[in-house]
Amino acid sequence: MRHFRMPRTTVTLLYGDRSYSFVPDAEENLKGRLSCDCRRSILIRDYCDSNFPVLNCGHSIAIVSLTDLDRKNPGSAPPLQRQVS
Ligand SMILES: [Zn+2]
Repeated sequence: MRHFRMPRTTVTLLYGDRSYSFVPDAEENLKGRLSCDCRRSILIRDYCDSNFPVLNCGHSIAIVSLTDLDRKNPGSAPPLQRQVS
């Protein structure tokens, strides 16, 4: 499957004093989805916290890191909060 050839990327978003880290299923899911709060908030809802509010367009959610795990240790967990369920 094409999936396994894709680099695994961990995305960390910061909203207020909370950070949300997740590994998207596929890199394509990210395209165009990190450009605006309205889309970033939906990513957080999808991957981290289903109670997260859907935000209006803006720039309240910061992208703290976008890490390609293949270039680091694939087995090591990100230091920040992981996907909850
Ligand atoms: Zn928007």
